[in-house]
Amino acid sequence: MKAAKWFQPRDVRLVEVEKPSPKPHEALIRVESVGICGSDIHYYLDGHIGSSRIKSPLILGHEFSGIVEEVGGEADRGLIGKRVAVEPSIPCFKCECCRRGDYNVCRNLFFPGGPPHDGVLCEFVAIHSQFCFPAPDAMSAAVAAMIEPLAVAVHTVELAQLQPGETAAVLGLGPIGLMTARVAKLSGAGTIYGADLFDYRLDAGLRYGVDTAFNAGREDTVAAIMDATGGRGVDVAFDTARSSATPAVACRVARPGGRCVLTGISGEEEDPFPVGVGRRKELKIQWCRRFKNNFPRAIELASSGQVDVASLVTHSFPLDQAREAFELVSTYSDGVLKASVDQ
Ligand SMILES: [Zn+2]
Ligand SMILES: [Zn+2]
Repeated sequence: MKAAKWFQPRDVRLVEVEKPSPKPHEALIRVESVGICGSDIHYYLDGHIGSSRIKSPLILGHEFSGIVEEVGGEADRGLIGKRVAVEPSIPCFKCECCRRGDYNVCRNLFFPGGPPHDGVLCEFVAIHSQFCFPAPDAMSAAVAAMIEPLAVAVHTVELAQLQPGETAAVLGLGPIGLMTARVAKLSGAGTIYGADLFDYRLDAGLRYGVDTAFNAGREDTVAAIMDATGGRGVDVAFDTARSSATPAVACRVARPGGRCVLTGISGEEEDPFPVGVGRRKELKIQWCRRFKNNFPRAIELASSGQVDVASLVTHSFPLDQAREAFELVSTYSDGVLKASVDQ
């Protein structure tokens, strides 16, 4: 089968690899749509996210949908022929974290597209059938692939434990930030402030629940949000950027006793953090690791239209142009929000 393989920074090529066959508990999926994620961009440009480093050529990609063609002997045969959205981090079910229910931080997680495991920018993927969620009939393949990042936004917002009317800041208005703003609004958030470096993303923010948006390149985000809140700060600050600077911004714009939910991936193993600010304000800092039991709600939010997922997918490429998709997203060109690779 064909696959788009990463060889070195900015070098992704179409190659021929062996088609997988499903193990007893797996489904074999003919891949239809793969979303390019900000985390993929770290691997595309730098070959690593912090200490997670690509050591030999790797197929990237983890946000995907497709049609189940075949299942192993222990998997549900009812999945055959169905379009599925796939929760791509497969836990071991055995470790302490899994037994506690915190399977998203499993010590032996299998995650396609994270080294050393090949990802899903290819024609067929075999993956644990329990993590294949049938998409409603009317859901397109591109929207089904977006269920994965939407599930991240759902988990991000549930970790914030928003109370009705609470104010929020969303730092970084890529797809995760936009969907976080929208889900926060649906969860009862009051005024939401947004910040990003690109005006077209600020415009998108205003369509996805952000009430007031600041350009972080032209304005001091901390001063702008503190000013807009009369010096109080926001109840919850969400970091949804691909930046080393935004965790600190989140701490500075949160009110005393407020919360920060850190979902963005800077790509570094360590980032500067204003410990004095956090201590003086007694902030609650909550990191977010992907998702945990969030796919059913994400599917419902997308299929009911409460989150307009289709409009986020601004660009589509064939598999043999996967490199162009990575380039587009990494250079923030042509008004891109989400680029997908479709087959
Ligand atoms: Zn992702
Ligand atoms: Zn585990």
